[in-house]
Amino acid sequence: MKITHKQSVNISNRIAFSPRVSNAKIQVVCGPMFSGKTKTLIGLISGHLNDKKKVVVFKPKLDDRYSEESIVSHDKDAAQAYSVNRPAEILDLFHRADVVAIDEVQFFDESIVDVCETIASFGKTVIVAGLDLDYMGRPFGSMPQLMSVADEIIKLNSVCTFCSGRARFSHRISKDQGVVVLGEKDKYVPLCRSCYNEMNSKL
Ligand SMILES: [Zn+2]
Repeated sequence: MKITHKQSVNISNRIAFSPRVSNAKIQVVCGPMFSGKTKTLIGLISGHLNDKKKVVVFKPKLDDRYSEESIVSHDKDAAQAYSVNRPAEILDLFHRADVVAIDEVQFFDESIVDVCETIASFGKTVIVAGLDLDYMGRPFGSMPQLMSVADEIIKLNSVCTFCSGRARFSHRISKDQGVVVLGEKDKYVPLCRSCYNEMNSKL
């Protein structure tokens, strides 16, 4: 393909960097289990709270491993949160917030993408955290779409259980079937690509 002169690209800085939308931002925090996603989310929330911003936190109702009332990292840091069944419920509650944070976002249906874009279009920051891959190493739910529309992606790694390498996969060690099986270290171990492939070749 012939590349034409760059003068043919006409982008107005005034429009592209309008201060009116400078605060609108979709951030995605993703990675495997035990990679510190919720801890990172809580750290970002704390930063906004320190800046005197109003933060409202949401999470899907199905995730009640530790608490109904808060999002909780594996290190037991916590922030207050609403549990909702459907992404549309977030639209009823976000208006009084400057920043909307959503944990375990991979469990919501695909309408979560429109909900995040709608909130950002109101000039608010949206921070979502979730598993990018399911236990089979497949993109999880709407995470690919969320990562596509994101302004910023923070991709975290865990430590491989077998070789201490960089872990990208949440390998299920229980016999449970189905994509959504809630659990902790009793059911999942973080693995690097090599160890994950080795484990699955033995199944
Ligand atoms: Zn490994």
